[in-house]
Amino acid sequence: KLYNQLLESKGNIRVFCRCRPLNMEEASSRPQTVVEFTDAKDGDLGVLMNGSNKKIYKFDRVYTPKDDQCDVFEDASPVATSVLDGYNVCIFAYGQTGTGKTFTMEGTEQNRGVNYRTLELLFKIAEDRKKTISYDISVSVLEVYNEQVRDLLASSPPMVVRLEIKQVSEGVNHVPGVVDMKVENVDEVWNILQTGSNARAVGSNNVNGHSSRSHCMICTVVRAKNLVTGECTRSKLWLVDLAGSERLAKTDVQGERLKEAQSINKSLSALGDVISALATKSSHIPYRNSKLTHLLQDSLGGDSKTLMFVQISPSEHDLGETVSSLNFATRVR
Ligand code: ADP
Ligand code: MG
Repeated sequence: KLYNQLLESKGNIRVFCRCRPLNMEEASSRPQTVVEFTDAKDGDLGVLMNGSNKKIYKFDRVYTPKDDQCDVFEDASPVATSVLDGYNVCIFAYGQTGTGKTFTMEGTEQNRGVNYRTLELLFKIAEDRKKTISYDISVSVLEVYNEQVRDLLASSPPMVVRLEIKQVSEGVNHVPGVVDMKVENVDEVWNILQTGSNARAVGSNNVNGHSSRSHCMICTVVRAKNLVTGECTRSKLWLVDLAGSERLAKTDVQGERLKEAQSINKSLSALGDVISALATKSSHIPYRNSKLTHLLQDSLGGDSKTLMFVQISPSEHDLGETVSSLNFATRVR
């Protein structure tokens, strides 16, 4: 048995690992599963590296293919809802295309994911607290593709907005011109999230391909006014469905695919660098190396809370990418 370094939560960074079920195609051939969940309850994930060589990866949580959206949200919700208490929060889904990033974050109509469940709970808590705190909640939806930022709520087709981050006050960034929709209830949110999700496809001849090669970033801004003390706070919650982390196929080493792959690589490495610099309390945090990390600058680090879902496949066929995702997670512990 091999053990990796402990991957347990340090400070405000948590890492959850979620494994999708075998898909129909995999299940119908002789399934070769390379993951083991014997100690999943303790945050241990076993990976059969080659044959009998088992390596244990440690996480704050491990979700097996049997765990559903409720199980996942139960653990994610305390982090997500801390935005109502004035914390900035980032929640990411990282992993190879097809491992369930969009399923975890966006989910489906019948199986809604972290995004919808979070907004739903924010409104519920806001309602419960309304005698003492008045909350204003607004949402914007951005996409980062080839190091360009698009505003998915702006217009159809979505505009490419040139990213200009303005620091409006100490530690608070703002992107002027981005559409900020004030939301009053959870039904509005679902519509807005659908609008954003549909806009992702515009201008692309391969909808699914495109969405797996761009980062989708939902920003919820919460303004709170304490009706007793008069104190006002403003905090942000980012919900991010990252581009697929898979390496480029050898057949795709030129043209548009190469450019996309380089942009994705650049931004995912930048994200890894920022989170690992934060985890090791480095004095320099390299936010400026990608649009992704630059956008998130005021919500990563400080007393912000970070939750990363590392999404994996159970299939032997994907072992290489699985190990590479687990190693990324090890870096950001
Ligand atoms: P990604 O966004 O990482 O490319 P998707 O979220 O599109 O992956 O998931 C790929 C497929 O697997 C989808 O059909 C999705 O519904 C299914 N899937 C992923 N995770 C789960 C899960 N935990 N339970 C059931 N189906 C899942
Ligand atoms: Mg996806």
